[in-house]
Amino acid sequence: MALIVQKYGGTSVGSVERIQTVAQRVQRTVAQGHQVVVVVSAMGKTTDGLVKLAQEISPHPNRREMDMLLSTGEQVSIALLAMALQELGQQAISLTGAQVGIVTESSHTRARILNIRTERLTRHLQDGKVVVVAGFQGMSPSPDLEITTLGRGGSDTSAVALAAALQASQCEIYTDVPGILTTDPRLVPDAQLMREITCDEMLELASLGAKVLHPRAVEIARNYGVPLVVRSSWSEDPGTRVSAPQPQPRSLEGLELAHPVDAVEFDTNQAKVALLRIPDCPGIAARLFGELASQNLNVDLVIQSIHEGNTNDIAFTVTQASLSRAEAVATAIAPALRDHITNTSQAEVLVDNRVAKVSIAGAGMIGRPGVAAKMFSTLAAAGVNIQMISTSEVKVSCTVDVEDCDRAIAALCEAFQVTCSPRLKAVSTIETQAPEVRGAALDPHQAQIAIRHVPDRPGMAAQLFQLLADEGISVDMIIQSQRCRLIHGLSTRDIAFTVTQTEADQARLVVTQAATELGWGEVLVNKAIAKVSIVGMGMVAAPGVAARMFRALATAGINIQMIATSEIKISCLVAETDGVKALQSVHNAFGLAGTEAVVVPA
Ligand code: ADP
Ligand code: ASP
Ligand code: MG
Repeated sequence: MALIVQKYGGTSVGSVERIQTVAQRVQRTVAQGHQVVVVVSAMGKTTDGLVKLAQEISPHPNRREMDMLLSTGEQVSIALLAMALQELGQQAISLTGAQVGIVTESSHTRARILNIRTERLTRHLQDGKVVVVAGFQGMSPSPDLEITTLGRGGSDTSAVALAAALQASQCEIYTDVPGILTTDPRLVPDAQLMREITCDEMLELASLGAKVLHPRAVEIARNYGVPLVVRSSWSEDPGTRVSAPQPQPRSLEGLELAHPVDAVEFDTNQAKVALLRIPDCPGIAARLFGELASQNLNVDLVIQSIHEGNTNDIAFTVTQASLSRAEAVATAIAPALRDHITNTSQAEVLVDNRVAKVSIAGAGMIGRPGVAAKMFSTLAAAGVNIQMISTSEVKVSCTVDVEDCDRAIAALCEAFQVTCSPRLKAVSTIETQAPEVRGAALDPHQAQIAIRHVPDRPGMAAQLFQLLADEGISVDMIIQSQRCRLIHGLSTRDIAFTVTQTEADQARLVVTQAATELGWGEVLVNKAIAKVSIVGMGMVAAPGVAARMFRALATAGINIQMIATSEIKISCLVAETDGVKALQSVHNAFGLAGTEAVVVPA
């Protein structure tokens, strides 16, 4: 007999008929001899409806009252599902998050789970009952015992956290698609089902816009080694398995607040090539990285900063042994790029053969804006200047001067209380066997913020991102321009980053205030952007992946506004109106499209 946690999303419990179908599936699982805990979402689009009601009354509703309101959606579906099970002769009981003992932080509308008191659940299971739990909600610690919610899409988080707390043999996420697909089938109808994906890849995809699984749920699965499956509630097909590495034993106390950073990594074998003042038009990145790929040069970090006038900067890192060949490619291409330019500025190649990459890694940094800020302030306090920054959901990497590397590592290890290890030189077999690109995602809900003329000295990034973190604003795709400009005799750079659109105005306020006080330049905000990304473990070992992505976008006539990469993902910002076309082109270019039709319920 196994203990299984099953989660059914909104569409899966969207009508009385659907709830009855779910009840039958749960009953079949019990008939196979298993104990079942069911987590359900609110019916259909109930939560959206409740949000709309609140907004009709107040543009900024009180967060506590929002939780009071939104938590009602799930309460309807648990009661109905318990009744449907009882109708089938199956003993069942519905419980709210508070009744289960899901204790969370008190921060309303985005609470993290602190622990789950499983005694009551276990007692009902032992009595032969199916326990139907309201997803997405919990209760703040005593004495307040306030109703909290975990943030939109949070039922996935509830389910995986329950599975971890109960040490369930499996957590099954039932939804309206056959599993995790190569991209969103609503945007790209020929997306294909994946049989398997690693937690690291899914963390990236989920945070880059694939809403099929919430990133916090993936984080818990990864940290606690919860066997996780995503399947359709419409069929018996096996769906997608999300595989987790063998986890370190962890306490269930502070479940979602465990160590945000697992490791500090470094790589002193990096060199940087930057091309400055290249034309801001489709096809330039494709051409540069196409040439590099044809020479079999594997690039690691790639960043392209905001454009100024009609030129851009692109910088990338390669191993030191590849530097001279990479430089030769860049130098050879630069004159050709100049021809495009109508103004007087000239493309220029800069190299730095002694850079080190230092990274902090860990699934616990998701949605915790303070973690990156702490990295930057730690480096600043150690007097280390940051050259390039690259961020992903599970890693923040900075390139620094090689001379600064030891100091940077020591400071970071102390700040995050972890040991450090070099990034393994040999690429693991997992990486060589994994597909270069597993999937693609589009996030149309981002806004780009750029600040001109930030002094180029330690502490600037720290100050900026700490201010944003203090406001609870999560930042993504942080990019510093490569170009230095002298303002009043001071060398300065531009810094650009993205935030979610809903936080853009607040971010603009914070940044504008800081810019005025600290004498930084103009603050620019662009909400009409979309982020298109590709993810795959195998790209670590495969040259040319970036080139193919850029080529696909260029062929579709799409201009790339910003580029940021981590080891297993590449993201490009494009105009919002180009978003879906960009996703489709990239999805096609990596042969992810297939012929098996994916049925998506209306
Ligand atoms: P649920 O209500 O079951 O939680 P969601 O609407 O939250 O379902 O998530 C499922 C939806 O996620 C799908 O209908 C699909 O449109 C979207 N989606 C986005 N990216 C992907 C992907 N890579 N694979 C599968 N579905 C995806
Ligand atoms: N009902 C909540 C929402 O729509 C939680 C969930 O479905 O996961 O966000
Ligand atoms: Mg969902």
